[in-house]
Amino acid sequence: MSQDNQFLQGKIALVTGAGAGLGRSIALHYGNAGATIVVSDINEENGKETAALIAENGGTASFKRADVSKAADAEALVEFAVNQYGRLDIACNNAGVAPPATPLAEVSDELWHKITSVNLDGVFYGMRAQIRAMQQNNGQGGTIVNIASILGQVGFPGLGPYVATKHAIVGLTKQVAVDYASQNIRAIAVGPAFIKTGLESNLDPKSRAALDEAHPIGRMGEPEEVGAVVAAISAPTWSFVNGSYIPVDGGFLAR
Ligand code: ADP
Repeated sequence: MSQDNQFLQGKIALVTGAGAGLGRSIALHYGNAGATIVVSDINEENGKETAALIAENGGTASFKRADVSKAADAEALVEFAVNQYGRLDIACNNAGVAPPATPLAEVSDELWHKITSVNLDGVFYGMRAQIRAMQQNNGQGGTIVNIASILGQVGFPGLGPYVATKHAIVGLTKQVAVDYASQNIRAIAVGPAFIKTGLESNLDPKSRAALDEAHPIGRMGEPEEVGAVVAAISAPTWSFVNGSYIPVDGGFLAR
């Protein structure tokens, strides 16, 4: 662990969906910045592995399994953080699911509910529990980072339910600022473009090239390029940024 840039020293943070990809990178960056982390995922094995990686880097982390689409799990997760470490300062709602591309008129009730229950209900249940905990921080509040997407700003062929949930996350993030800024509770939505999480290796070369070229930078992002931003904006020095949407997209939304 680098000792020179501990800008989250003393902070208690939780990250959902931290067993893989973006979530794991965010948790590792929080750890490197000196925070104590509750790593959460529906996948116990992967989540425990993330917690172990943080410990290997010299950080402090525990794992708590939660299915974010269940309100009781979201509440138990926050309760775990408070019981274990005394408070909750930072929460990153990252867990999400991406459906196979399906034109809107072909989307089944089942697929719609599967995507909305994790991506949207999950962020609502999470934030509701997290805000209640942050209200107990003697007026110091806390920071919530919601992982939206570039698809929280624009549509994309075949991804209707995903696009709808990500737009809704951007709206809910604004609402936290409106309702809770006066209590020093702030929320920021982060909008990654397409990020290399392994799945891209299944694409045929032509589709892969098209996806790379959709970004002005000419490539997809690395999980670390999102994790570093999420950790940075969670720092207390970002106290005046609230309700914002921050793209992390290699210029995707710029054209
Ligand atoms: P990305 O890295 O692009 O965010 P991944 O699919 O690699 O996407 O990671 C998403 C993470 O969210 C996975 O670790 C997955 O297990 C987790 N996840 C998916 N559904 C849920 C859920 N209902 N509750 C908690 N975590 C979930």
